[in-house]
Amino acid sequence: MAEPKKKLSKTRTRSRRHQIKHIEVGIIYCPECHAAMQRHHICQNCGTYKGKKVVDTDEKIEVEPTEKA
Ligand SMILES: [Zn+2]
Repeated sequence: MAEPKKKLSKTRTRSRRHQIKHIEVGIIYCPECHAAMQRHHICQNCGTYKGKKVVDTDEKIEVEPTEKA
């Protein structure tokens, strides 16, 4: 592996990192149910995207109990 010839000073490291901007998290609120949701994703609460129903959230998944032999 290539190694740096000299240790970077605190000032050099910090001045470089100073340029790194905080990345926007991308959390928005659903226009339908006002729940917090990730940008460009289907709402986990009501299953809509851009005002259209995409996923049926009323559907309940039944899990069959497993029997041990
Ligand atoms: Zn929603």
